[in-house]
Amino acid sequence: MLGLMQNQPLLISSLIRFAERHHGDAEIVSRRVEGDLHRYTYRDLARRARQVAKALDAMKVAASDRVASLAWNGYRHMELYYGVSGSERVLHTINPRLHPEQIAWIVNHAEDQVLCFDTTFLPIIQAVHDKCPTVRKWIALCDADRLPADTGIPNLESYEAWIGAQGDDYDWPDFDENTASSLCYTSGTTGNPKGALYSHRSTVLHAFAAALPDVMNISARDAILPVVPMFHVNAWGTPYTAALAGAKVVFPGPALDGKSIYELIEAEGVTMAAGVPTVWQMLLNHVSANGLKFHSLNRTIIGGSACPPAMIDAFQDQYGVTVLHAWGMTEMSPLGSLSTLKNKHLGLPRDEQMKLLQKQGRAFHGVDLKIVNAEGQEQPWDGKSYGDLMARGHWVLHSYYKGSSPLVEDERGHGWFPTGDVATIDPDGFMQITDRTKDVIKSGGEWISSIDIENIAMAHPAVAMAACIGMPHPKWDERPIIAVAKKPGAELTREELLKFYEGKTAKWQIPDDVVFVDAIPLGATGKMLKTKLREDLKDYKLPGL
Ligand code: ADP
Repeated sequence: MLGLMQNQPLLISSLIRFAERHHGDAEIVSRRVEGDLHRYTYRDLARRARQVAKALDAMKVAASDRVASLAWNGYRHMELYYGVSGSERVLHTINPRLHPEQIAWIVNHAEDQVLCFDTTFLPIIQAVHDKCPTVRKWIALCDADRLPADTGIPNLESYEAWIGAQGDDYDWPDFDENTASSLCYTSGTTGNPKGALYSHRSTVLHAFAAALPDVMNISARDAILPVVPMFHVNAWGTPYTAALAGAKVVFPGPALDGKSIYELIEAEGVTMAAGVPTVWQMLLNHVSANGLKFHSLNRTIIGGSACPPAMIDAFQDQYGVTVLHAWGMTEMSPLGSLSTLKNKHLGLPRDEQMKLLQKQGRAFHGVDLKIVNAEGQEQPWDGKSYGDLMARGHWVLHSYYKGSSPLVEDERGHGWFPTGDVATIDPDGFMQITDRTKDVIKSGGEWISSIDIENIAMAHPAVAMAACIGMPHPKWDERPIIAVAKKPGAELTREELLKFYEGKTAKWQIPDDVVFVDAIPLGATGKMLKTKLREDLKDYKLPGL
């Protein structure tokens, strides 16, 4: 017997329809490429998203065809999120930090029909447009009178002229909730990028989950600042969750330095911000160098790579801002776990609470996690046994776009996504990443977590960023070394840093050497790029060898 409740498909258009009707005057504020601040409301956004849908109809872009964006976080990008997906097309968000050749590759792989770009990225478009035969129209996200001239790009139009030619009398269509909604390629540090193709259902369920109190805890009282880019895993779903909750949204545009982010937080009363650790490091540096305080910010979601405990402490102790440490992946939409305490932990001494909060956290309903050994057997949740981390859930990928399925079946026939991370899980379900599988350092048959070694260095006041990698060793297989970029003007010697490790980790885990570098190489999503670091250090020899 079926239940007798209304069966409405979970569609992305339902989010904007809701926000327009129930939070129509909640604000969306964007720093624009032009430098100024733009502000309008969900009501305006919904109207213009309908114009986007009509502009695509006018071009006869078919259902499920891909429409690409190459853009910063801003209101026009959010209009594309709703206008493209809501009208049953697929929004393909492209990471502008990829190499132009990779960009051309993914545009061709996705067979994008239209590509909308911020004018900042004009040089990229000029470099790739003649290698992208599927693109029928190039849209510069600007006013008509700011359309760049003499670009050599055929079929180029300004966004405002493109949507301005349309009315907003459009009804969001109903269709199957499993229809594809958006496409994001992994950054592909090895091999070609792989596409994660999200559905309306997975996106809406993810948006619900993200709003939960034990996840991002987003409500109509929040003003949220997604620093995490809309071109990478849909800015962790924040543009959807914000509409679902009716939260004010503040977009930083291209200005991601500590000063600009701080000023935006203060001016707009931001309560919650989300981003990768490198961005927050810049913010903390700015705030501490200038003796500033936060007046509205109460929490930051930090994830994408391990958040150093020193950063969690600094936010909490010096500024009263709670850090929510999150873990996820492009293939998981991206949220997989987040660290918040349980009721039973409330009476624990603070340092024990902090130990839990430093972990990547607990899964929430909608995602399940497990760790397995090399034979695929599940490992105990004892906080010590480590294994390959596997995930399954409503918003976890089952196959790559035009690719194969990476899932591994368990004895009940359920498919689990192998994350490529190595982790422990404690009896309360708190998961801790020790490493990416490929970054684990194997020394004398034991594993050393590069993240642990980095976290210790990052707690030294002279260290701006640190990356730990394994170097070949004839006796131990590998030994760790730590590459360090110092804070500007700071003094630090190899011996001082090695001494700093004493008492903080087992002796045999202390790096064999410190290599000072100008900067740790970062990848397209702001994470440390260890492949590049290994390449830079290919002639390096461990001391004494
Ligand atoms: P890519 O850069 O490969 O496209 P994703 O953005 O999908 O990557 O990154 C997913 C990976 O990032 C995870 O598998 C994990 O290794 C790493 N990661 C994400 N969040 C955290 C975290 N909080 N701590 C440690 N590693 C993390």
